Parts: sequence; structure tokens; C-alpha cells
Amino acid sequence: MAKCAMRKMRRKGLASMAVQTVATSDTAKNVDLGPASALSCRECGERFPLGPIFACELCFGPLEIAYDLPEGDPEALRKRIEAGPANIWRYAPLLPVPADVAGKPNLNPGWTKLVQADNLGRELGVEPGKLFVKDDSGNPTHSFKDRVVAQALEAARAFGFTTLSCSSTGNLAGAVGAAAARAGFRSCVFIPHDLEQGKVVMAAVYGGDLVGIEGNYDDVNRFCSELIGDPLGEGWGFVNVNLRPYYAEGSKTLAYEICEQLGWQLPDQLVIPIASGSQLTKIDKGLQELIKLGLVEDKPYKIFGAQAEGCSPVSTAFKAGHDVVRPQKPNTIAKSLAIGNPADGPYVLDIARRTGGAVEDVNDEQVVDAIKLLARTEGIFAETAGGVTVGVTKKLIEAGVLDPALTTVVLNTGDGLKTLDAVAPTTGPTATIRPSLDAFRDAGLAR
Ligand SMILES: *Cc1c(COP(=O)(O)O)cnc(C)c1O
Repeated sequence: MAKCAMRKMRRKGLASMAVQTVATSDTAKNVDLGPASALSCRECGERFPLGPIFACELCFGPLEIAYDLPEGDPEALRKRIEAGPANIWRYAPLLPVPADVAGKPNLNPGWTKLVQADNLGRELGVEPGKLFVKDDSGNPTHSFKDRVVAQALEAARAFGFTTLSCSSTGNLAGAVGAAAARAGFRSCVFIPHDLEQGKVVMAAVYGGDLVGIEGNYDDVNRFCSELIGDPLGEGWGFVNVNLRPYYAEGSKTLAYEICEQLGWQLPDQLVIPIASGSQLTKIDKGLQELIKLGLVEDKPYKIFGAQAEGCSPVSTAFKAGHDVVRPQKPNTIAKSLAIGNPADGPYVLDIARRTGGAVEDVNDEQVVDAIKLLARTEGIFAETAGGVTVGVTKKLIEAGVLDPALTTVVLNTGDGLKTLDAVAPTTGPTATIRPSLDAFRDAGLAR
């Protein structure tokens, strides 16, 4: 069956809901979301007014934001950005947010560290000065999800929603809870019932409602889709469902920051984790925008996607040469990436192939080894998703797929404190001793 027809079939369920939410979007006609001008269908290109919709009425394709971007004077734009705040709002001219966004109550995420990782590079055989870790564990709720939620929050304000919600593999629930608390929204978020304790506590501590669903993430997502189509979900902004086109744009800020932090240059290679694939596709969109705006020199770059073997629908399709992503039932310690039916999977395949990159996976043992490798070489404690990207980077270098002579940026998207269980069984005190010098001497640790 043709690729497009397959995609359409998968989206049919979504489209009927999309039509229902259109009815409530009349109020959205005069919304001010800065340079965002319309929603456009990624499959057929049809345009729609800005509103809380996410699927094309004609072909059921996913919608994304179209812009009137400030073209023409890259030097002026670069100066304006550099004079902006040290968070994602320095890029407000390129995002679907009102111009005065920096003055509104939100968590001001972003502008996280780009760490030159020479110690890790030495272990992996990468030349000094060529390997970087973009460390998004430094965001307010310790994952990259604060970037996307901050965009969805502005859309929720613009469309008059009063409750923020989401289906989450853990990090998103915490980011929504915190953003809602700060901005004065009610929140009610949904997670699989069996997540890591660190993620459950972080999702609950901000005081909103947290609901554990007996099922995996794909069950949670299906439930949320039903809720949106039902009167029970009226007035709710689901950041990753009916606000998804806005939410997704937040990932572009990773592309902007990486290039600005490299001195307004494109990296040669990027290694990005894949859950739904949204982050990877929007980082590519952000890089393309920087080229189009003349903010960076146009040159080729390669995008590599990283998955855990226990949830590897995209890498499996990539290696088999398929255009279609076959859903899997996840079974991995990398729970934040455990989406068995990734919405942006086919687009990830397109990008990896177009840029000359690849999609690869590593098993749980390699994930744990990579977490420890990054920690002991660079002092960065990553969650399992970061273990996946570092593990895949190592594997791709060893296989000769990633070029160790080129500038490479590896993403760490979350904080290891949220997934302690992954490393706790193999990480602990070197010795436990009585408080005496004799005991310490006997332990053989004095050097
Ligand atoms: C959500 C998430 C991702 C990737 O998300 P996409 O759905 O692919 O955009 C990566 N890392 C962490 C830690 C996450 O929470």
C-alpha cells in the first residue's frame, strides 16, 4: 500500500476529533501568536487558521505552524536574538508566541549548557573540540519537555483554555504540572501507572491532578484522544494532542541554541533520541529555518536518531529500508522513550535518509553503561534517554557510521535523578567501613 494511504488510515481516528475541535476554535480568529500565520498540513499543504486543531480536515495529515519569519536582515536578527533573555524567549521572533511572552508567568526554560565533551570524546575516539553534549537536564523540571510545554502554554492562553493536560511517559507530566502551577492553570495529566518513582513524584508535587492509567503509553494516548472528543474534556488544552502543532515548535529552540552556542554554525552531526519523533523532526525544521534566514552558513548536516532496543519501531524500519513504521509493544528501562507507535516515525525516517544520517538502537545494558560513561567522563548524570543517545553515539562511531573527525552534538534530554532505579543496582559505595584509619587502610583505597 502507498505510504501516504497507510498514514491516512492510521490517522482516521484522529481526524474525526479534529473536526470536532474545529467547532470550538471560532474564538481563535484573532489570536496573537507572533510570527505564526497559519496551520499547514504536512501531507497536502492545505492551510487552516490558527486554532486548537492538529489534523488536516482534507487528508488527515498532521498540521504544523507556518510563519511570516523576519527575513532580509540576518545581522539585525542575530543582534536582536543575542540581546534577548538567557532562555528560549530570545528566539521569540521565530516561535508561535506573542512578542511580550518574556513578561508572562512561565518557567523560562532553555539556554542550557552546550558542554565540550573532550573526555568522553577521548574514550570514543573523537578528536578534541569536536564532541559536544547539549545538556537539557538543566531545564526547570530537569528535562527537555519544558521547552515544548512553554509553547503549548502560550497557545492555551491564546485559545482561552483553563485546564492543561497531556498524555505522558513521565517527563511531560512534570513539565505540564509545573508550568500550570506557575501560570495559574488547573492541570490534570495522565501517565502509565508503572512509571519510575522519580517521575511520578515530580508529576504530582506541583499540586495538579495526576492520573495513572492501567496500560502503556499508547493506551494512555488513546484514552486522551477519546477524552478530547468527549464533553468531559471540553475546555482542556492537551499540550501534545490538540495543542501539538504549537507544542512541537518548542523543540526548534534546541537547534537555535546549539547553532548559536557553536558561534552561529551548524554542527556536522547530531544524535537525537526518539520517542514520538517530534523533537527530531523539529530540530531539523529549526536548522532549515536558520539556513533560510541566513543566520548560519548553508552546509550539509547529518541527523542520527537513537532508540532503545526494547522500543525500536523507527530504527527497525530504518534498517529494513521501510517507509512505514510498524508499532511495537515497549519493554525497556528507557521509559521516557517508550512510545511503541510514534506519530512522527515516518518523518524521522525521511530526515535520517535525506541528511545521510541513520537510526540505531542499544539494549538496556548498553544504556546503563552509557549513563555511567557520561557521568564518569563529563560529570553529567543523564536519565535513561541520555544513556540511549550516548550509547547509540558510541555504537555508530564503532561501526564507522558517525565520523569522529566532524563536529558532533549529542543530546542529553533528562536528569539521571529521575531514573535512579536504572543505575542503582550496579552503582553504590566502593566500601562501607568503621570510622577508623585502620579500617580505611584495610579497604585499600589510600593512594
Ligand atoms: C519526551 C522525551 C524525548 C523525545 O520526545 P519526542 O516525543 O521524540 O519528541 C526525549 N527525551 C526525553 C527525556 C523525553 O522526556
